[in-house]
Amino acid sequence: MKLPKQLAKQLPKQGRPVDEVIAALEAKRSGDVKWSEGRAFGMVYNGGPEVHAVAERAARLYLHENALNTKAFPSLGEIQSEVVGWTAGLLNGPESTAGFLTSGGTESILCGVLAARERGHRERGITAPEMVLPESAHAAFHKAAHLFGIRVRKTPVRADWTADVDAMADSVNANTVLVVGSAPQYPQGVIDPIPDIAAVAARVGANCHVDACMGGFVLPFAELLGRQVPPWDFRVEGVHSISADVHKLGYAPKGVSVILHRDKHLRAYQTFVFDDWLGGFYASPNLQGTRSGLPMACAWAVMQHLGIDGYLRLTQATLDNADRMRAGIAAIEGIRVLGDGRYHLIAMAADPAVEPAVDVFALGDALLERGWFHDRQGPPDSLHSTVSNSNTGVIDRYLADLAECVARVRGRRADDRSTNYATLE
Ligand SMILES: *Cc1c(COP(=O)(O)O)cnc(C)c1O
Repeated sequence: MKLPKQLAKQLPKQGRPVDEVIAALEAKRSGDVKWSEGRAFGMVYNGGPEVHAVAERAARLYLHENALNTKAFPSLGEIQSEVVGWTAGLLNGPESTAGFLTSGGTESILCGVLAARERGHRERGITAPEMVLPESAHAAFHKAAHLFGIRVRKTPVRADWTADVDAMADSVNANTVLVVGSAPQYPQGVIDPIPDIAAVAARVGANCHVDACMGGFVLPFAELLGRQVPPWDFRVEGVHSISADVHKLGYAPKGVSVILHRDKHLRAYQTFVFDDWLGGFYASPNLQGTRSGLPMACAWAVMQHLGIDGYLRLTQATLDNADRMRAGIAAIEGIRVLGDGRYHLIAMAADPAVEPAVDVFALGDALLERGWFHDRQGPPDSLHSTVSNSNTGVIDRYLADLAECVARVRGRRADDRSTNYATLE
């Protein structure tokens, strides 16, 4: 058969053998960040070989299954409800707490925002919805605003990087459908004053969403380990919904997060039901249609395998790693940690009191040459670390490299000033 020229350039004309295809993929990966050596501060969270083994075996079982219709795959309905139930327990949800699994933090946030908009519309007649976001709230909330036609009122953070509640109180009005706080916020890793934020939301009858994408599988265990954790979960009366990512410090592979609502009535505002289609009755819990059973089953398997004691062990290791990094950074002249984050997120910036100032982006380049990967962020210019169990055993090596790199880049400025948390192509 003669193929059109355009097509001939794309797929191989004849399919390739399995081993050859896999070898080609392996070769492609050679330039990717070496997370398995513990040198990435974020993006991949390594719970250890056993956690990977249980996830990989669950993945094999559920690689092909489809959670679109849990009448066909009742096991996936159970898996969803069990993972949601365990997470609600960790986050001190009342008996009534209800939720769904989603593909990640962004989708959980989109669902929380959509539920708030729908509730505002149906219960308060709001047609020009607004939400109040501290400038530290994750970019996914702005994506939600863009997709769902919601006006954002962005408020500043205080000197300690937590949300300025007075500014938030000044920004709510009769059109406010949602007020957001984070536990912790991503950039500097501090926990917003959730009870105060919930009170601001309550004043106008808006939802309060807590973004615990990062903290959801850390803070409950940090608290059990005796760390001071300010109130942030469903024990705060005015919290309506919480997002928590199993695919971050829950140590499941990518593609799974939990969105929780205080009760089923609130949850109903995020679902879509349609009964006027030739294809039949259609209902979906989140933004997806066909949805892979793989990440859901992996989350179930990893959570069962770890149990409370496993998460306590991984959280202890994570917090030890982060504490040692904070102490190490404080001991190096020219750099400092921004804010008083006490958990697993660290923003490292130049110490303005030291001349010549360290350009942390040049520092990031120097660290990357030695294989250490940080996200670059700002304002202000800083290097972000999501510390986890992945980094266990490499902290001394890292701090030694960090001290050497700071000395080397002093007075040097990187040409590349880009801060890529995420990219397009
Ligand atoms: C990671 C993160 C998100 C977004 O989650 P994705 O899984 O990347 O979509 C939202 N909020 C916070 C605080 C996060 O750390």
